[in-house]
Amino acid sequence: MTDQTYVPRIFGSDVFSESVMRATLAPEVFDAWRRCIDTGSQLPLHIANEIAEAMKTWAIARGATHYTHWFQPMTGITAEKHDSFITPAGEGKVIMEFSGRELVRGEPDASSFPSGGLRATFEARGYTAWDPTSFAFVKDGSLYLPTCFFSYNGDALDKKTPLLRSLEVISREAMRIIRLFGDTESKRVVVCVGAEQEYFLLPKALYAQREDLRLTGRTLFGAPAPKGQELDDHYFGTIRTRVSNYMKDLDEQLWKVGVLSKTKHNEAAPCQHEMAPIYSEAANACDSNQLVMEIMKKCAAKHDLVCLLHEKPFAGINGSGKHNNWSLATDTGRNLFSPGKTPRQNAQFLLFLAAFIQGVDEYQDFLRCTVATAGNDHRLGADEAPPAIVSIFLGDELTELVESIVSGSDYWGPQKRTMRIGVDVMPPIPKDTTDRNRTSPLAFTGNKFEFRMPGSSQSVAGPNIALNTIMAEELRKFADVLEQAEDFDTTLHELIRHALTSHKRIIFSGNGYSTAWAQEAKQRGLSNLSNTATALPAYISRKNIDLVTRHGIFSEAEFRARYAIHLESYKKLVAIEARTTLDMALRQILPAAVRYTNVLSDALIAKRELGVSGKAERSLITRLSAATDALYDGCQKLNADLQAVPAAAEDAAVYYHDVILSDMAAIRSEADILETLTEKSFWPFPTYSDLLFY
Ligand code: ADP
Ligand code: MG
Repeated sequence: MTDQTYVPRIFGSDVFSESVMRATLAPEVFDAWRRCIDTGSQLPLHIANEIAEAMKTWAIARGATHYTHWFQPMTGITAEKHDSFITPAGEGKVIMEFSGRELVRGEPDASSFPSGGLRATFEARGYTAWDPTSFAFVKDGSLYLPTCFFSYNGDALDKKTPLLRSLEVISREAMRIIRLFGDTESKRVVVCVGAEQEYFLLPKALYAQREDLRLTGRTLFGAPAPKGQELDDHYFGTIRTRVSNYMKDLDEQLWKVGVLSKTKHNEAAPCQHEMAPIYSEAANACDSNQLVMEIMKKCAAKHDLVCLLHEKPFAGINGSGKHNNWSLATDTGRNLFSPGKTPRQNAQFLLFLAAFIQGVDEYQDFLRCTVATAGNDHRLGADEAPPAIVSIFLGDELTELVESIVSGSDYWGPQKRTMRIGVDVMPPIPKDTTDRNRTSPLAFTGNKFEFRMPGSSQSVAGPNIALNTIMAEELRKFADVLEQAEDFDTTLHELIRHALTSHKRIIFSGNGYSTAWAQEAKQRGLSNLSNTATALPAYISRKNIDLVTRHGIFSEAEFRARYAIHLESYKKLVAIEARTTLDMALRQILPAAVRYTNVLSDALIAKRELGVSGKAERSLITRLSAATDALYDGCQKLNADLQAVPAAAEDAAVYYHDVILSDMAAIRSEADILETLTEKSFWPFPTYSDLLFY
């Protein structure tokens, strides 16, 4: 039994948090660190030395023997290289040492991380630098130091650096606006993020029998199970013991490293679950989510389970996403997406809303590209996941309000009248936390936007960098105009009205799956980038490059490098899937079908000798043979097509999508026919019903 103090006691117990720093550092050292955080200045070496010493003592007391500069390279996962604290002390003895220099700067031999051409291997130096705004923590016997990763020339080689840059920029631009609205108190504007994480759990023993799951994280074969998710009996259902033990363990491990794990429940698909943390500042939320993914996987192994973070492990049932809840708040705790109570607060809210709508419309393709991955291609637009067309859902009340501002006509409410921004109080906007229009990519849910397109396995850094930068850009434009305005209220009204009028095409409340929406979106001129290969080139459009360079989020070289890496990883992932498809089809599925056909043939011959017709056997043999031949032909074609991949990177990506993936689909459909015809004991690996209903 645990008492009330248990969770508070373990929460953050492995984090070298502000309170631990206050307790273990000399007051002048603590103050010096605080000053660095507040002013963004560099940590003097003697201060770093003091912090390092205190950290080491604290970490060793928690069982640490090593330290690691923990960073987030452009692969989207985290990387770490562990060094022990030991230093020779003569006579074959060692002492434990850790210096300020080792704390603030690392030099991992990191030549194998993708750099997108920013760094040639022969000059492979990549450096890591401790980000003193992120707290160190102890995990698995190591002291983890969250760091930024950059090249000798100072190019960002990670996802954290541009995220931090975007946070500074949005704070600066948003401050200009709130100052205009009379806020003299706040010092900065922060981005709040809560990343809901979906995942699948499978028994390790079953997983181990499937090469596709092991090598690609998703099933490349598998006929639908007789039962799917049609009964909705899994969603929020009772959590089975093995899974609830896992979740309990997971929560404790997350709490110890300071992740605010809050809710857990079963998701719509069988074996699918979700963990949602309490939101926190974006940089922290991003680090936390990386830890969540890592700990989810490690913890599963302890429970003889495997955690799948792939966006679409199983065809035909829900995939996994990562809902990115995003809002802006002042450091004094005022949410800037909360509709206000006074005309002035309303006006500021509507300005932020208009900026968001305008930004998302202008940079739809940029946002779309931040979630373009091979895995997410299978998810977007199917089974509760939003489609690839970016649009915003505002809910009935706000949509109506926007309409009335645009048309200058009456808005709904007790007495119908025109909304005069800055003069009238807005009618209350219900906090729609129960919004279940899951087909909307970006939904306003009361005081935040929920971006539902990100895939379950990706880092949330990319999407948040885009959201922050887009928003900063629009706020900058608005501030430029408003700061010069002679008549503030009139200018404000016109600005909001103009933004909403020009960009209301991005607002959509209907069913995102309908073919009618695709057609309507086309008429509205919205972009529909249906897959990664067609989407990615839009990433480096002139407009997007100008956006990110104008705000100093990326240099053009850094931005292009990221594009190259995304393209490259798309091709590599599809190639691995294609080779796995061939391997399983030719060495597992085809032989199984042949063996079973053989048994049927023997039976048929025996029956004929007895003068019995053997109708079932004959029919099965014919169908099995047809599918076996087609499977074989499909493999021949895929094999040949894999030899003919175009050289140019963009062409190759399109080719992988158009040719290779459709070859794979053709093979799969024959294999799935074979599965339904073949006796179970002959089938070489667990089927969908084995996997999903264990
Ligand atoms: P859902 O219905 O999508 O499960 P919840 O109310 O459970 O919605 O919230 C989902 C996530 O949104 C949680 O991580 C929560 O902490 C986060 N969240 C709540 N308020 C905000 C906010 N103002 N800014 C950012 N994230 C928020
Ligand atoms: Mg949600």
